[in-house]
Parts: sequence; structure tokens; C-alpha cells
Amino acid sequence: TVKLLEVEHLKTSFKTEEGIIPSVRGVSFTVNRGETFAIVGESGSGKSVTSLSIMGLVRAPGKVEGEIHFEGKNLLELSKKEMRRLRGNEISMIFQEPMSSLNPVFKIGNQIREVIVQHRKVSKAEAHRLGIEMLERVGIPDAAKVAGNYPHQLSGGMRQRVMIAMALACRPKLLIADEPTTALDVTIQAQILKLIAELSEQENTGIILITHDLGVVAEMADRVAVMYAGEVVEEASVFDLFEKPGHPYTLGLLGSLPTLTEQRDRLDSIPGTVPNMLNMPEGCPFHPRCPYAEEQCKTERPELRVKEADHRVRCLRMEEISH
Ligand code: SF4
Ligand code: MG
Repeated sequence: TVKLLEVEHLKTSFKTEEGIIPSVRGVSFTVNRGETFAIVGESGSGKSVTSLSIMGLVRAPGKVEGEIHFEGKNLLELSKKEMRRLRGNEISMIFQEPMSSLNPVFKIGNQIREVIVQHRKVSKAEAHRLGIEMLERVGIPDAAKVAGNYPHQLSGGMRQRVMIAMALACRPKLLIADEPTTALDVTIQAQILKLIAELSEQENTGIILITHDLGVVAEMADRVAVMYAGEVVEEASVFDLFEKPGHPYTLGLLGSLPTLTEQRDRLDSIPGTVPNMLNMPEGCPFHPRCPYAEEQCKTERPELRVKEADHRVRCLRMEEISH
């Protein structure tokens, strides 16, 4: 395995009128070439802020600390210009909101053609043809006609697909997909995930897949990090995560958390909400929601510890809870 991206002790915080929000609190992980690494968590867990930090898209008063190495270069030390060159070239991102990455004044076909011309040695005519083919591959019907449209003439779902086509057309080494298919219907969703998986396979692209959907994780990912309140609480291979989950929060996401009231035999969601980041609870951030919480959990902060090879868990009671 060849390391593509190494994130070390990433801390991203935002200054607000009410105080500093520590959205990402010391996150470390590695993405290898050709690997799909999923980051799972509820909204507010810090997964989107992690991806924006990697892309260099956190704006002041947001502050990013730590190290983000991409093929050996620390991205946090690059100039704005160097970072801009890397984005949409070697690293590309599929956002939840597609409008932001499409230029409203150019036709779809011209935009995708320009991306292709920049990244492959082909003529304009050939790039145009490849662009239409890419639009077809992301499930756009009548792609030749759509190529002649402006972004505002398309529905949200169509724009999302165009953006995905553009992100894939630049043949990035790293693709960050933040909830790439949540807005799309199930058939298109499956089609696009398949396309992303093919890309990873054929071009050895590393993928960071950000999602709250464990079905997508099971289908797509090689390894997975579960985030809670700005921290990684569990990291494992997909197989281990589903077969031998170690953190109570992961158990909750998998629907296998025992309840305090014995009457209920199954819990679909974890009661309670993500903690207020302006006022983090003492001890383990998960303790107000955790059915395993004990006195020590209210005061002691758990570290990420090795459960077994390539499997780490941030829980004081890991040994007692997981087997
Ligand atoms: Fe639950 Fe305690 Fe483990 Fe936190 S440290 S997840 S509160 S058992
Ligand atoms: Mg998000």
C-alpha cells in the first residue's frame, strides 16, 4: 500500500460571538492509493469540516491546525495559489451543494470540456465527446442536449450529476465525496456509487467518502472512521466495524446498542443529541448518551486505543464492552 494522504492531529475551530467552536478536535487518519476510506457520523460530528480542511476551504475566522500530507507535501503550508492548483486537479471534491462548483455563465458542455482538456491530451472535439460520454455515465438522459444548457436550467439532481461528472473527469488522485448521493433517487445513487468505485479501481484513486449511511459504507468502503463530537471514536476495516464494533456509539449506529430499559428489544437511533460544541461535557463526550457510562466516564477523557491490529477505539470500557 502506498500512502496518499496523511492527516495528523487535525484541529479545526471557528470563532463565533458565543465562543470558539472546536469542530474537529485532533483527528488523524491515512488514506492509501486506490482505497476508499469512509468517515461516518451524525451531522455536527465534524466530518464535513474535516473534508473542507483537507481541501483548504476553511475560511477565516476558521482556524486549521495540525498536518495534512498529500504525497509528502504538507497542504497547510502551501500558498493559496498552489492549493488552488491542487484542487480540482489532483484532489477534487463532490459537495452536497452542487451550484457552488458550477460556473453559472458557461454551458455545461463547455465546462466539462475545459476540465477534460486541462487533464488529458485530447483535441477540443474529442474532449467534447468525452464530456458527453461522462454525462451519460452519471445517468444524465439526453446528455448531448444537456451539454448545451446552463446550470440554472437544470434541476438540483441533474446539477449534482453534472458536478460528479466534472469531478471524475479531472481524474484526481484523491476524490473527496461528501454525502455525494443523498439528494438523488436510489437508482441514480447506486449508479453513481458504482461509477466512483470503478474510478477508484481503474485509476487507483483514493476516496474519502463522507456519509451517515452505513449501507453505503458497507457497499463501498475498505476502511472506516466513525466520528463523534469532532473526534474519531473508532477506526477499523469495514469488516471489523460491522463484525466486531468496539465503541458504544458505533453499536448505536448499527442498531445493536442495548437499552437501559430492558423492555425495548431494539433501538433504531441513539437517544439524545450531539453535544453542544461550545460547552463540551467533561470526560467522555458520549457519556450523556451512553448506556455503558460509569462514574469514571464523567471525568476521564478516553484516548484512541488499539483494540487489535488496524482497529482502534476511544472508550474507557472497551475491554468489557466489545469481544
Ligand atoms: Fe461510554 Fe464510558 Fe466508553 Fe464513553 S468511555 S463510550 S461513556 S463507556
Ligand atoms: Mg455534512
